[in-house]
Amino acid sequence: MGNDKNVGVKKEKGIRKLTDRISFWKAKSQADEEERHSPKPKPKLKKIKAKTKQAKNKKFQVIEAQRKANEAKKKEARIKVEAQRKANEAKIEAQRKAKKAKIEAQRKAKEAKKKEARIKVEAQKKAKEEAKKKEEEAKKKEEEAKRTYEDELEEQLSEEEITGFQLEKTDMDKMCNRVCEMIAGYETNGTLQSELWKKLKLSSRDGSRLALKLERMGMITREKILEKERWTYKLIIKKIPVSTKSIEGAPCLTCPVQSKCSIDGEISPKTCQWIEDWVMIELKNK
Ligand code: SF4
Repeated sequence: MGNDKNVGVKKEKGIRKLTDRISFWKAKSQADEEERHSPKPKPKLKKIKAKTKQAKNKKFQVIEAQRKANEAKKKEARIKVEAQRKANEAKIEAQRKAKKAKIEAQRKAKEAKKKEARIKVEAQKKAKEEAKKKEEEAKKKEEEAKRTYEDELEEQLSEEEITGFQLEKTDMDKMCNRVCEMIAGYETNGTLQSELWKKLKLSSRDGSRLALKLERMGMITREKILEKERWTYKLIIKKIPVSTKSIEGAPCLTCPVQSKCSIDGEISPKTCQWIEDWVMIELKNK
């Protein structure tokens, strides 16, 4: 661009010089011609020179004005281009800033959303834990309210103390059978342990220990129930004991040949007249 401009200026100057010379020579040759045809006094040459100089100045002024106008135009064009470039740059910068702001806003929104979700999850977790804690506390309170003397006793006693429970001066086998027979009388409905201990004239402590022993023996089951706003146990029979009454008077108990008696032997209940007679009498009595 710079080189082109220099070349243009040089060219312009050359043209200007050339036109000046042409003008000068034209004027000179014209003057010479006039002089030749009508010789004029020497002072006329001075006038021609002055005229030529005047014309040269005028031309120069025109060219200079044109050059300045062109330069102003070019300058104006440059300013316009520069302004356009700056405007484009500003536009690009604004777009870049807007894009950056948008991305930042999106990132912030995403982060806020994540934070909100985290808070929500945390709150849910906390609420769940609170609910669980409350439920456990309520359960504990309920368990506490349901707690009976037997529960405490069961905690205090060892397994040996429960299974080896013995009442003073009492045949425990007979006692256990008697209690089980009484409970069996209530069939699957069972009976309140307090009522049973009253009938047997047992203390609450002894009765509870006996109930625990029978439960460990697999004879009864204990069911916790709320009776008159108080938690207690109902005892239900599990295994009915064999009554000794059913074999009282059986001939086998006093049989002289009992040791030789067997199912498939020579002496056998299958062929025994004594046992047959006893069974017939028992049936008749029933
Ligand atoms: S079944 Fe008859 S023989 Fe056998 S033991 Fe009983 S009474 Fe004696």
